[in-house]
Amino acid sequence: MRLFDETHAALKYDFKGKKLGNAEIFDKLSNRDSKIRKAAADSISKVLGDNIRVFTLVTNVLAKDKSTEDKWRNFKAPLSSRNLSNLVEDEVVDALISTVKRNYPKLSHRYFKWKAKQLGLKKLEFWDRNAPLPDAHDSYIPYEKAQKIVFDAYNEFSPKIAQIVQKFFDNRWIDVGPKDGKESGAYSHPATVTEHPYILLNYLGKTRDVMTLAHELGHGAHQYLSKEQGTLLADTPLTLAETASVFGEQLTFRSMLKNEKNPARKKAMIAGKVEDMLNTVVRQIAFCDFERGVHVGRKKGELSSDDIGKIWMQAQKDSLGPVFNFRDDYKYYWSYIPHFIHTPFYVYAYAFGDCLVNSLYAVYLEKPKGFEEKYIEMLKSGGTKRHKELLKPFGLDASKPDFWQKGLNIIDNFITQLES
Ligand SMILES: [Zn+2]
Repeated sequence: MRLFDETHAALKYDFKGKKLGNAEIFDKLSNRDSKIRKAAADSISKVLGDNIRVFTLVTNVLAKDKSTEDKWRNFKAPLSSRNLSNLVEDEVVDALISTVKRNYPKLSHRYFKWKAKQLGLKKLEFWDRNAPLPDAHDSYIPYEKAQKIVFDAYNEFSPKIAQIVQKFFDNRWIDVGPKDGKESGAYSHPATVTEHPYILLNYLGKTRDVMTLAHELGHGAHQYLSKEQGTLLADTPLTLAETASVFGEQLTFRSMLKNEKNPARKKAMIAGKVEDMLNTVVRQIAFCDFERGVHVGRKKGELSSDDIGKIWMQAQKDSLGPVFNFRDDYKYYWSYIPHFIHTPFYVYAYAFGDCLVNSLYAVYLEKPKGFEEKYIEMLKSGGTKRHKELLKPFGLDASKPDFWQKGLNIIDNFITQLES
């Protein structure tokens, strides 16, 4: 892992006469100019390709080590040990993976076909995946306005949760803007159960930042409500840790969408949301599929860079669909994803969380009455219950494929809106 981390951190990418680091070069893949995206992709491919033997060796060693340990501990499948630590049964995760894969054509294939049309292209290259849409220009949203948007969205759903949200604003539990020496990103830290959570943001006034505020306040409210379980049980398992945050984002997104009158911006908002969802659901399941291929393959013997590249390309072709060209050098792109090295099969938890919230949201849309109390009870229980007991009051069961389908239909509906 250290060899991976240090090699990866030291990579420098040539770009228009400059040497760029990882964050800067990957950011160029979402540039508005396709020439810049392509130049960035060329440079990334070159650097990853030059280092692929090291990454292949690291992957082989770690996968072999894992398979030995799995054998000793009697784990049935490569995913089983992760499932155990996530407090979720193998069948539930299998149902999630197979349902998402069955929906690839209806979701990602369809969306990217639509996206290609928007960009005026017949075929997409892998560097077009994150290309911004032509009319996705963002207007600046001051923080005070963001507070109001998020508060109103929560308040419409649950005045009780909105009151907790208000506490964060009134008591200054949020560090809002970027400043010198402050770390990047955003999170909500529960601190201790006798105190209250703190939120770190780097608010810059984009729509994305408003969503992040809603997201972290979801975590914050969840942590605030589960305090009563005490230090050992307040924390939720990974698969449920993103429930309140993603749910809060969904509420805020819907309310912003309702208030947006400009049809072009409305379209851009829906497309952005669909892309986010595809990145968390479809892409992470494709990652998981790739990992499974690597770990199963490694059991039979050492894998070459070509073997791993083939498994990667297949998983990408399956998930992204026929509108993509898949230039050969895309075969190196598995090698920059640290989750594969650090925490095998971590990735499906993102898909799990997102689909679970979508299913929950679908229940809320069908029957809003009585939902709020059940939802608050669920957040309060922190880490005391498994997902089966937690979801039971909502009439949901994650081991059934129709549970996951319910969640995926929400993405499907958004794509239908875009197409019309
Ligand atoms: Zn989160």
